[in-house]
Amino acid sequence: MKVCKLLTPGPLTTSETVKAQMLIDRCTWDEEYKSMTQKIRHQLLKVAKASEELYTVILMQGSGTFGVEAVLGTELKSEDKCLIVINGAYGKRMAKIAECLGINYDVYKVNYKTIPDVENIRNIIQRDKQISHIAMVHCETTTGILNPIEEIAGLCKEYRKTFILDAMSSFGGVPIDVENLGIDYLVSSANKCIQGVPGFSFVIAKKEKLSACKGNSKSLSLDLYDQWKNMEKDGKWRFTSPTHAVAAFSMALDELEREGGVQKRYERYKKNNKLLRKRLEDIGINAYICKEFQSPIITTFLFPYKGFDFEKFYNYIKERGFILYPGKLTYEDTFRIGNIGEVYEKDIKKLCDIIQEYIRRSR
Ligand SMILES: *Cc1c(COP(=O)(O)O)cnc(C)c1O
Repeated sequence: MKVCKLLTPGPLTTSETVKAQMLIDRCTWDEEYKSMTQKIRHQLLKVAKASEELYTVILMQGSGTFGVEAVLGTELKSEDKCLIVINGAYGKRMAKIAECLGINYDVYKVNYKTIPDVENIRNIIQRDKQISHIAMVHCETTTGILNPIEEIAGLCKEYRKTFILDAMSSFGGVPIDVENLGIDYLVSSANKCIQGVPGFSFVIAKKEKLSACKGNSKSLSLDLYDQWKNMEKDGKWRFTSPTHAVAAFSMALDELEREGGVQKRYERYKKNNKLLRKRLEDIGINAYICKEFQSPIITTFLFPYKGFDFEKFYNYIKERGFILYPGKLTYEDTFRIGNIGEVYEKDIKKLCDIIQEYIRRSR
């Protein structure tokens, strides 16, 4: 297989040193390995700007969706009702999870191009007093839109609602002040902005909330409370943990610190994203989301002309060392370019040169 830079929203391009960690086989009972899990949990709290006093971190086997399902299934009780904000596929996925688990929920749907309106949400929760939880996605990876969590977190504080945030594709790449915002549960995974490899998700949880969830989960493997109580003892996961992915993640977290933390990484992503959109706009490839709402994580682009052949384009770019991402919209022809991972300005410049040449030749 050709070695390419992945311009995708995870799995993404990791550093050589992160990959090298996976050349060592580790034992799950080993003290050194168990302490790695504890170190990761402490570091993640720092990234989240959350105190050990009020918050804890739970790592959960599986991809990001497993983490979201673990939170909803462990936290929501039969008398609760969750309002799910939807402006993309991942919001929709949360509703699907709620449906599968028999959780009482309602949805607030927003056009994929726009952000949710806080006043609309206020009206909904004033009308429906049963709503106890609000769940939403931070960066909707479907389109690349960045939803305004500050305002909605504020609303949750005001009305004492539990706030569940899918920050899968933004955590580590966009500063999120978890404690200050009062977020109750934040879910992300190893293979996004922390720049590790796939294998597990993690949850930053308010201890007060999670403490009240004993015995609530209808799933054994996705019982977040039970996972927490086991992990809390000495860092040993309940069931077999993805040892290679954990070691890679530990290195990735150290490298995030070395880069200068979330703020510095955010600036790198933002700069790359701006450059990418500017260069492509110059050759007639326009972003789907307006500048004000665009995240620095991933961008959806409209096909530049009628009859644009994405597969041909994709293969042309792949032969030259980059993997792009197909679109996820059913009603518009789009493709996506991610700029998270080990991707730097020189990569973006090289990519844009290749795209420019393709467009010149194919038009
Ligand atoms: C990646 C992602 C997920 C999780 O998807 P998995 O395929 O389960 O890893 C959930 N929400 C968002 C916003 C994502 O970007």
